[in-house]
Amino acid sequence: MGKNRIENLYTLSNSEKELLKLPESKKKDSWDTHTFQDLKKNLKSHLYVEQENLCVYCKQELSKETRLTHIEHVIARDNNEKFCFALKNLALSCRDCNSAKSAKYVYHNERTEKSLSRYPHRSVRFLIPHPHYDNFDEHVSFFLDFYPIEVNQSSKGIKLIEICNLRRFGLMANKITAEFKNSAGGMEEKIYKLSAKSPEEALAGIDEIIAELL
Ligand SMILES: [Zn+2]
Repeated sequence: MGKNRIENLYTLSNSEKELLKLPESKKKDSWDTHTFQDLKKNLKSHLYVEQENLCVYCKQELSKETRLTHIEHVIARDNNEKFCFALKNLALSCRDCNSAKSAKYVYHNERTEKSLSRYPHRSVRFLIPHPHYDNFDEHVSFFLDFYPIEVNQSSKGIKLIEICNLRRFGLMANKITAEFKNSAGGMEEKIYKLSAKSPEEALAGIDEIIAELL
């Protein structure tokens, strides 16, 4: 399943450190502009290796296509702009996890998340497994290698599954297809047929697949 957490922070070059001396609001506004293009590219290369090319939340293979792999802010940019470039706040996620999570709170106190001035260094303050602090497999595992479940009633695991919508059809379908690619039973075809159905029917189909596999 790849590495359990990000162990090594990215090392900023001197010119990158200079760049980050810009005021906080300016940095947040410039996130998507040319100003930080190189820095973000270098950071991404570092994180791809650290995360063994897997999304930090759903553990799906990350796409090499820039628009499909996002630099994810654990504490959302919109909730606290001070951590826009805090290296401990950054990880790579797939586009789907990133958009499901959007600006949902991950700190134990909503109001504090917005007013924090220093980046929290304790795992216990976060509602989800923190990519830099927590071992993923102590919180979430994938039953039958595709169905996300919390480990030992982990509240962080429960919250992550909810916040990132880890039980979404697309994710489970991808994992099932990858897992059962060469096995008998026409799994790929089953998933393909389900993908044409309504979200409810598709998810019910996943339940049937689980029942079949058990
Ligand atoms: Zn993901």
